[in-house]
Amino acid sequence: MSEARLREEICRLAADLFARGLTHGSTGNVSARTEDGGLLVSPTGASFGRLDPARLARFDATGAHVDGDAPTKEMPLHTAFYDTRGTAGAVVHLHSAHSVALSLLPDADEDDFLPPLTPYAVMQLGRVKLLPFFVPGDPAMGEAVRGLAGRRSAVMLANHGPVVAGRDVAAACAAVEELEATARLALMTRGMGARALDAAQVGAVVRRFDIPWD
Ligand code: ZN
Repeated sequence: MSEARLREEICRLAADLFARGLTHGSTGNVSARTEDGGLLVSPTGASFGRLDPARLARFDATGAHVDGDAPTKEMPLHTAFYDTRGTAGAVVHLHSAHSVALSLLPDADEDDFLPPLTPYAVMQLGRVKLLPFFVPGDPAMGEAVRGLAGRRSAVMLANHGPVVAGRDVAAACAAVEELEATARLALMTRGMGARALDAAQVGAVVRRFDIPWD
């Protein structure tokens, strides 16, 4: 994809997430690999509803900021995914309400944050790691992602929001939406004795779609 088209795609998909309430105010950030090995990143303080293709922060392949506005303060989260997952072509982070709500509950599972309610979450996210609370902008957030050594494509920052890597912007956006939708289902059915997928059903999905599931 040309850089001009990629810039348009990032802004269009971000606006679409914003319009549907998946992140609010000036929260959320997104980045994508360019064909020359650099990155395009949403600017600090920018709203997903009004990203300007011409003002995205542009990094070259050495990681130097060469053009556009200053990038999001949560940049260490993004670079941690690119540095540890060779397949990552884009990273999206939202402050999405249901995911955050689920992260506040006392019985949240740190190693497997989302209950396996539908096959799509299993297919698009693998196992989601719940990371602890960090003060916004703390580089320790990026270190925590690096500590996963590329084994997870999706993490949930407690009391904050999800971060998901995908092969491209569309895939990363679809996956983070799946995370939020599954968190919503988990909250809707909480305490109702809902029948999640059992281990055999999850195993069948994992094998059929060749999903990393450690
Ligand atoms: Zn955030």
